[in-house]
Amino acid sequence: MRIIVQKFGGTSVAKPENREMAVQKIINAQKSGFKPIVVVSAMGRRGEPYATDTLIEFLQNIYRDTHAREMDFVMSIGEILSAAVIATTLRSKGYDAIAVTGWQAGIITDQNHGNADVLEVKPAFLLRALEQGKIPVVAGFQGISETNDITTLGRGGSDTTAAVLGEAVSAESIEIYTDVDGIMTADPRIVTNASMIRYITYSELFQIADQGAKVIHPKAVEIAMHAGIPVKIKNTMSDSPGTMISALVERKQQRKTLLSEQLITSIAHITGRTQISIDTKQGLEEQNDILLRLADHQISIDIINIFPEKMVFTIEGNATKRAMEALREKADACEVIENCSKVSVVGDRMRGVPGVMSRIIRALTAKQIDVLQTSDSHTTISCLVKGEDTIPAVLALHEEFKLYIQ
Ligand code: ADP
Ligand code: MG
Repeated sequence: MRIIVQKFGGTSVAKPENREMAVQKIINAQKSGFKPIVVVSAMGRRGEPYATDTLIEFLQNIYRDTHAREMDFVMSIGEILSAAVIATTLRSKGYDAIAVTGWQAGIITDQNHGNADVLEVKPAFLLRALEQGKIPVVAGFQGISETNDITTLGRGGSDTTAAVLGEAVSAESIEIYTDVDGIMTADPRIVTNASMIRYITYSELFQIADQGAKVIHPKAVEIAMHAGIPVKIKNTMSDSPGTMISALVERKQQRKTLLSEQLITSIAHITGRTQISIDTKQGLEEQNDILLRLADHQISIDIINIFPEKMVFTIEGNATKRAMEALREKADACEVIENCSKVSVVGDRMRGVPGVMSRIIRALTAKQIDVLQTSDSHTTISCLVKGEDTIPAVLALHEEFKLYIQ
């Protein structure tokens, strides 16, 4: 069986005209000899009646102190409705489609409500449906724990659903359909002249996703990479070829590395970070103590720089209150800057090339942008900037590395 997993995001299933296009992609896949497994997100975005955020607010408006288990119960409804709507649309055109919940699809997770990890997939039900010639339309973003509780997989969870199903059934490829033509050199909502990237490596896509590009969840990229399944990112509303990610691309890029002048592939950004600086006059022991306290409060640290008498680190904005509780006794020694953004430059080909950091700093300072902190790995350099500098910083770096359409 040549199985293909096709995932459709929120905007791809929101309106009848989008659903019409989505269903055409499914029908085309079947006509080309594939057996599609479809994965869908909830319909639309915040404000629309069955979007995930709306469902969360619905329960919170009735009772503020919601329980995580019941919250997951409610949050799973959006995707279930969406699966029923797409399956019904397919049926109305004469295709034998069935709506399938996450638990029917055999997605077993841990108990971590709201952000569960998939432990195992038992694809027997899906495989049987495919053998019977049916098109399963699976509700994304949801699973069931080993104790039989409904769980959800966190933001971007439908991408993860597509990846774990692809792995479980050894799909030939995974297609992620969304509202942009593919992976771009920056978020097209910020950089209007961002260009499309036709081919990209798993590791670059992982970095771009991990550094904030919403277009695919990093976990999904990781799963597909380990399973060796090619991923395509495409636009539901157009026939553009999209972005292709595969091991073949990886090998081609490696060969091209020496010839290519384009060091940087894409600029990504994440908003809502908090930077905390602490004077640590007592040195190493005090610094260790601070790190332990943060870990005890389940706070994960992003960029960190440690000096003999000072440490500076970045955390997710919504962990700020918890961090200040953990560091209560040191409040006087703390300086906190909220609402920062991390802007990252990603590119496999910058590995070992000197001078990239200095170009970044020069480009940002030329626009009077303060760099609050930096971090770098072989293929990614990130700068923390103030919230109001986010867009200017993304634009400046996109310009500096000439990523625009030429
Ligand atoms: P879906 O609902 O289909 O999952 P998302 O909103 O999660 O869609 O992801 C698509 C969005 O990702 C695009 O509308 C775009 O604004 C954003 N995005 C951010 N960075 C990039 C990038 N480098 N390339 C393409 N899209 C990006
Ligand atoms: Mg998404």
